[in-house]
Amino acid sequence: MAEEFNITVLPGDGIGPEVMAEAIKVLRLVEQKLGLTLKLEECPVGGAAYEAEGHPLPESTLKKAESADAVLLGAVGGPKWESIDFSLRPERALLGLRSSLGLFANLRPAKIFGALSNASTLKPEVVEGLDIMVVRELTGGIYFGEPRGIETTSSGERKGINTLVYTESEIRRIAAIAFDVAKKRGKKVCSIDKANVLECTGLWREVVTEAHKDHPEIELSHMYVDNAAMQLVRNPNQFDVMVTTNMFGDILSDEASMLTGSIGMLPSASLGEKHAMYEPIHGSAPDIAGQDKANPLATIMSVGMMFKYSFNREDVHDSLESVVESVLDAGYRTPDIMSDGMKQVGCKEMGDLVAKGVEESLG
Ligand code: NAD
Repeated sequence: MAEEFNITVLPGDGIGPEVMAEAIKVLRLVEQKLGLTLKLEECPVGGAAYEAEGHPLPESTLKKAESADAVLLGAVGGPKWESIDFSLRPERALLGLRSSLGLFANLRPAKIFGALSNASTLKPEVVEGLDIMVVRELTGGIYFGEPRGIETTSSGERKGINTLVYTESEIRRIAAIAFDVAKKRGKKVCSIDKANVLECTGLWREVVTEAHKDHPEIELSHMYVDNAAMQLVRNPNQFDVMVTTNMFGDILSDEASMLTGSIGMLPSASLGEKHAMYEPIHGSAPDIAGQDKANPLATIMSVGMMFKYSFNREDVHDSLESVVESVLDAGYRTPDIMSDGMKQVGCKEMGDLVAKGVEESLG
């Protein structure tokens, strides 16, 4: 019987629907070529859902996401919804999905394609061959710790409080994900903490070291976060998998992704015990929405990650990456990655070029 997968598709706002249309084009071709059955169910999310149903994450959308094998998200947000109540802003849908689906691990690859090594702000020889995976803890740490808030002290001064807290089990499960991811890559994990100052990340270091005993084939190292931020721009190629806390990961994954120089190229995966969501790292790009200028490659490669991590089809992930690589090698560029002598194409044409490559490579 044909393999069957249920995918909840959440296009969202701005360029979300445009890049999603190209990803679905590619997805349908993969389905046809490999004889799979993909059941795609499209639901509103973000500003589009607020307009249609008065809430950025309607109950019906969440239910579909909870029952799917994987969720594919475009992007949410835009100036139109910037003045509405914080609890109804499109971006709240992301937090709602992450917490309801228990997505505790965020995987963000920062990979540079050879043809784009001059797109980075760093020297090409520093970023050449760059291929890092940042594994960020997503549902714990200082972003969620209690107590939190702003209080007034007895002397009338205001005091802001946030709490950094991690339990052993939270650390153990994110470490396990990092070791598993490293197994399919360069077999190196660097755990990032601030164990010299923060007790909580001292525990982080201890538990990651204990968890490593189950993965002797992986080389484990530890680094303080300030040094890691520096090493990422000094010699990024020393890293394979970096695993870290929610806040450190938030900052380092943005730094790592910017080494590649192109926000429109980077996919991501958020994984939990039972659910998974895949999305490009970029936002809804209202400045270029509706103009056929968006780069759909991040969303297309998010589909690749979905095949690798949710459907156990690493072959499809690898094929999509090599098709993207050959389209770039042939000189095709969307405006965000355009350079002299290259052929500029729009969002739709870029999707068509990848679809053609998939047709040929999976044919
Ligand atoms: P953004 O990522 O939308 O855009 C930043 C810049 O990168 C813009 O110049 C944009 O044109 C460009 N860009 C982004 N994606 C691109 C692509 N695929 N192809 C070509 N160029 C691309 O970030 P922003 O401008 O800070 O935010 C815009 C909106 O998106 C805001 O409402 C923000 O809250 C929201 N946002 C959503 C997500 C998400 O849905 N996951 C993430 C970040 C921001």
